[in-house]
Amino acid sequence: MRIEVDKDKCTGCGICKEACPKGAKIWDINNKAMATNLNFCHLCTICASKCPEGAIRVIRDDPDEKEKNE
Ligand code: SF4
Ligand code: SF4
Repeated sequence: MRIEVDKDKCTGCGICKEACPKGAKIWDINNKAMATNLNFCHLCTICASKCPEGAIRVIRDDPDEKEKNE
């Protein structure tokens, strides 16, 4: 799986990190958000749903699962 952040949309607000249950472990906000440690991610997609810019896409590798977006 992977989490993509649209750098053109991201404002670096940090809401994704705050909303994520494992935010402090996963997210690095440095002007732009980056999901740096996905070992802790459990694919809840809260980050994508909370991002005010719609910049996050949570993409599962499982072929039975479609892309999750907000
Ligand atoms: S919530 Fe969205 S806009 Fe805000 S830092 Fe995260 S990815 Fe960027
Ligand atoms: S999908 Fe859930 S656990 Fe993974 S980064 Fe987003 S909010 Fe955090």
